[in-house]
Amino acid sequence: MPILNCSIPRSLETALANQVRSTGQTLAQIVSSTLAHCLNVPLHTLFQVSTSGALVKGVYEGAVSAGVLKRHGNFGLGTFEDLDGEMAILEGHIYQAKGDGTVVEAPDSASAPFAVVTQFEPDEIGAFEHVEDIGQLTSQCDTYRQSNNLFYAFRIDGHFERVHTRAMRATTAPLAQAAASQPEFEFHNVDGTLVGIWSPQFASAFNVPGYHFHFLSLDRSKGGHLLDCTAGNLHVQIEKLSDLHISLPESEEFLKADFSQDPSTALAYAEQVHK
Ligand SMILES: [Zn+2]
Repeated sequence: MPILNCSIPRSLETALANQVRSTGQTLAQIVSSTLAHCLNVPLHTLFQVSTSGALVKGVYEGAVSAGVLKRHGNFGLGTFEDLDGEMAILEGHIYQAKGDGTVVEAPDSASAPFAVVTQFEPDEIGAFEHVEDIGQLTSQCDTYRQSNNLFYAFRIDGHFERVHTRAMRATTAPLAQAAASQPEFEFHNVDGTLVGIWSPQFASAFNVPGYHFHFLSLDRSKGGHLLDCTAGNLHVQIEKLSDLHISLPESEEFLKADFSQDPSTALAYAEQVHK
């Protein structure tokens, strides 16, 4: 991380020292959050569009464009209008892994009914030696999380012996029904990146609780929602996200939908392997 070195008035130095003492935060944390606030730069912020409950109910109308999403960050995941494929946002580019197995870069005009995006600034880096399956992947990710009660972004890069993904086809059916016949793909010996978000259990009413990964190959030709993988020597970068913003659609479809039921059972079903 860059080091800031500058002269400041004595009064500000005194105020900063008082703030360190009274909050227990480090000087770097206070300076970073104050600058982020004044300069209007999102820091450790997760920007979410709509809710996972809306997807469960089949509210797939695009709420925000890819161009607007990019203004809120360079890293994240989501889906496209009519559930047309899996979205991975990586290094400021938005990719669409489609149900026919292809991956394209989405134009700024592409519309998303659900997405989570952050300006990726890792707090920590690490490595995984070997990952046999998604269970081992998530348990190794667990060792990098200090809490179950914050959101985390995980960027995981390396060589994958096997990657099992799914990519939705455009549909109007409710999520659980659509997921039952989702196209699934197996890739072997491929370099790539997992774009991951961990959400706390309490977020289950509006997000996917636990880990949610989308895969993107290094050559950007393969991808999708991760169902399983085997890999060795993965490089991992983690960012803690303690600031959550949710933008709710104001479409008639969203405004009139009935979200009184708990979406978690249908979501859990939609997120797993069906073959
Ligand atoms: Zn997904």
